[in-house]
Amino acid sequence: MRYQPVIGLEIHCELLTDSKVFCTCANEFGGGENTRVCPRCSGMPGTLPLLNQGAVRLAAKAGFATNCTVNNYSAFDRKNYFYPDLPKAYQITQFEHPICTDGYIDVVGGKRIRINRIHIEEDAGKLVHDDYEGVSLADYNRCGVPLIEIVTEPDFRSVEEVQDFVTQIAQRLRYADVCDARMEQGSLRVDVNISIMPYGSDEFGTRAEIKNLNSVKSIGRAIEYEIQRQSEILDAGGKVVQETRRYNENHDDTKALRSKEEAHDYRYFPEPDIPPVLFTDEEIEAIRAEMPELPHERFRRYTEEYGLPADDAKLITAQKEFSDFYDAAVASTKEYRGVSNLMLGEMSHLLNETGADITEVRFSPADVAKTADLAAAGTVSKGSAKEIITILFENGGDPEKIAEEHGFIMSNDASETDAVIDEVLKANADVVEKYKNGNAKLFGFIMGQAIKACGKGANPAMIKEILSKKLQ
Ligand code: ADP
Ligand code: ZN
Ligand code: MG
Repeated sequence: MRYQPVIGLEIHCELLTDSKVFCTCANEFGGGENTRVCPRCSGMPGTLPLLNQGAVRLAAKAGFATNCTVNNYSAFDRKNYFYPDLPKAYQITQFEHPICTDGYIDVVGGKRIRINRIHIEEDAGKLVHDDYEGVSLADYNRCGVPLIEIVTEPDFRSVEEVQDFVTQIAQRLRYADVCDARMEQGSLRVDVNISIMPYGSDEFGTRAEIKNLNSVKSIGRAIEYEIQRQSEILDAGGKVVQETRRYNENHDDTKALRSKEEAHDYRYFPEPDIPPVLFTDEEIEAIRAEMPELPHERFRRYTEEYGLPADDAKLITAQKEFSDFYDAAVASTKEYRGVSNLMLGEMSHLLNETGADITEVRFSPADVAKTADLAAAGTVSKGSAKEIITILFENGGDPEKIAEEHGFIMSNDASETDAVIDEVLKANADVVEKYKNGNAKLFGFIMGQAIKACGKGANPAMIKEILSKKLQ
């Protein structure tokens, strides 16, 4: 790659309010076409918008989740354009005075990505193209759904930084109950602005904007494609034109939608029907006080206080419910690693395999804690602890009773184990012979036979010790 990509993002997130942003229609995904509309959100003349205070609070929380300043004063503006999915022919948004400004998120490699602003706006409806009838139909259910738009500075220099940022935004907004961030359903949509410049240059090139990417994977592919396309233009002595493009997943390419010349003049002006949003410092602090612990904060706690490896902490915090389960488990044990190993190993495996929901399993976080304790105390082996998780998953129960009933309690009777091992060595005399003649790899095989012979309560550490002595 001869060129350095420069990337900035605009991310639209649907807010998790019960009702829409300027009326009382339900804010729910789906529903029959045009069943979730009223005169206000379908743009009837003479209706007045009424600002949803819940949406404002969630926007402020998005600001706290991204280290922004939440402003004491913000206000709404009208952005005028005509399109059939926008019945009012203007969108109410925040232009001059957004609710949040000057935030940041640190991404892979410790790079700080600056956030320019977060503003509140309303979503537009949806056009449904019926190719068979040759018509387009308008569904206004999405009109007036509350959105925030997060705008970053052009600070990204690689696909990895962008993907990490989007993943973190989605996680933080989910933790804070601001947005469910289901990219595939469009509740979090990413526009990627991208330009390239020769390495070493500090003069940004002309950017293209790729609209509405709906997965972290397609964000990566669209950027790769765009770097290639723009590089070829510059290599051929041409100029990149500023335009909006659409990424096509099936073709894995981007196509021009409109160029800068065709860009709208939105004729922004202050929205006369909504008073400015005024917050006292106390009100802002009261919202901040409602913020839950965020995934990056939990990550820090897990790695620094609990000593988990970074990879494990990342996996646990990726999903709030999973992380909540972990926190509930370690509330009753100090076996931080033991619990995380059981959760990331056997438990994740079973959840993935069955598609079960962690909030609906038959056992409690305390059961996992107890299982980890049993293993740590040497009452059961690590292998048996995993089997206990499987049994809990299938039937529930008490870990200690399960251990007893299934013969998982490790035998700490050395003389008994000694006798069993003698039997095993006798039965495998030929293998023992080869081992003694220098085939060191056979130790594993003999060990395996001994564990098998000792049964479920086998104590691997004790067996290994006795076996090592006998084979010397
Ligand atoms: P405009 O006012 O024309 O919409 P902004 O300055 O608001 O432009 O930037 C819009 C988005 O484009 C932001 O995410 C910003 O980071 C990004 N951006 C701006 N300039 C560039 C550039 N030269 N290359 C890549 N992205 C850019
Ligand atoms: Zn409505
Ligand atoms: Mg802009």
